[in-house]
Parts: sequence; C-alpha cells; structure tokens
Amino acid sequence: MAIERTLSIIKPDATRRNLTGQINARFEGIDLRVVAQKRIQLTAEMAGQFYAEHAERAFYLDLCEFMTSGPVVVQVLEGENAILRNREIMGATNPTNAEDGTIRKDFGESVEANSVHGSDSSESAAREISFYFSELEIVG
Ligand code: ADP
Repeated sequence: MAIERTLSIIKPDATRRNLTGQINARFEGIDLRVVAQKRIQLTAEMAGQFYAEHAERAFYLDLCEFMTSGPVVVQVLEGENAILRNREIMGATNPTNAEDGTIRKDFGESVEANSVHGSDSSESAAREISFYFSELEIVG
C-alpha cells in the first residue's frame, strides 16, 4: 500500500458545534496524520470554484451558501491508502445512510450539512490540495 495525501474539510456545521478536535481524533485513531491545517472563511467565489463539478446540480447554490455560512477547517491528511480510508471513516454522503462509527453518522446533521469533505480520487486529491495549500505549508 502507498502513503497518500488527501484533502479534508471540516464543514461549517461542525466548526459551529466545536467538533474540530473530535473529528481530528477520528482521523488520528486510524493513523491518518494531519500534515497541514488551517481555519478559513470561504468566499462565495472560492466555494463556487471548489464545487464547480456540481454546478449543474440542483443543490449547488445551497451547497455554496452553506459552505460560506461559517468557518471551515481545510486540512491535508497523510497515511497508508489515505484517500479511500478517509472516505470510509467519513461515511456515506447522507448521514442517515452512513455506517455506525463513521464521522457523518455520528456528527452529520443532513445530506448537505454532513460535517466533512474528503477527496474521492488521487486526481481530485492533487487538485484539491493545491487549491488550498502550497507545498511549503504541508509538512509530513
Ligand atoms: P461527497 O461529499 O460524499 O463526495 P458529493 O460529491 O456527491 O458527495 O456532494 C458534495 C457535497 O454536496 C456533499 O458532501 C453534500 O454536502 C452536498 N450534497 C450532496 N448531495 C446533496 C443533496 N442531495 N442535497 C443537498 N446537498 C447535497
């Protein structure tokens, strides 16, 4: 297995409830390391650009509004098979369908306010990491 990096976002519903530490503990609990992290306020332009692949979806504008409704914590997670293992610990998009013990099952409020984002492929991970971080900001 390869050591990978993936982009994670702790979304506004979770920062609002002060869950950053509890969510990071889930990552660290499966040996994913937080190798870069910053708390930022997304602008409408950044959210729109980040979710551009969903521009045609009915939920796109609501999603962009939600993602700018409060601070987010953007982070790079590093570890064995990090992209897939992060998706597993996150759980299904809709918290109602997520497996017990996943972040979205335990903390998600709705299909939109589902507490975390995680890259879904190595191509997305590379693009999404470079969207938020320079190489100098990532220290493994
Ligand atoms: P995931 O984040 O699990 O990869 P998607 O890429 O399909 O899921 O969707 C991106 C984000 O858009 C989701 O995490 C969620 O916040 C939001 N979203 C997805 N589907 C819906 C929906 N049906 N209604 C509202 N928001 C949605």
